Amino acid sequence: MITAICPGSFDPITLGHLNIIRRASRTFDEVVVCILNNASKNTTMFTVEERLDMISRSVARFPNVRVDYYSGLLAEYALNFDHGVIVKGLRAASDFEYEFQMDLVNKRINKRLETLFIPSSEKYTFLSSSVVREMSKYGADLTGLVPNEIITDIEKKAELWRNSNGK
Ligand code: ADP
Repeated sequence: MITAICPGSFDPITLGHLNIIRRASRTFDEVVVCILNNASKNTTMFTVEERLDMISRSVARFPNVRVDYYSGLLAEYALNFDHGVIVKGLRAASDFEYEFQMDLVNKRINKRLETLFIPSSEKYTFLSSSVVREMSKYGADLTGLVPNEIITDIEKKAELWRNSNGK
């Protein structure tokens, strides 16, 4: 059984992420969406618990997809699976360079760990969690950018942010 591990910060999950997760779920026996700490991001909009809950609700209709969290390195996490492959969405050339580097780092820890890429769907090429965070803070409509199940969660959090910043 091959397990696709879809890693990321998911702060928050977007329809771009969900598109990759759905396509992976059709290709692999099972998919584990794994929330990881990104060392270069020291603050997140949502806590790990909130992100776990938001992703779980977004993937509830996919029977072979589950959600997990790991506080260490992805290459170490992948050792938990007999046949785990990292599956990532690829948007632009800039993603490619970064991913090439990450694969090199992962292979130093876990030589047999492979990373496979799924090309981003055209309509989500420019979508990222940071775009969603920014838009939400200015009260923009998030329909078509994130799963419907989590729109209210983001709006509530953005409102808290606006209140605490006096906007
Ligand atoms: P990170 O914290 O590593 O930036 P993200 O949570 O932003 O992680 O994204 C996780 C993964 O999802 C990455 O492999 C990224 O390339 C992919 N991804 C993010 N947005 C999209 C999108 N709009 N279309 C396809 N893949 C995406």
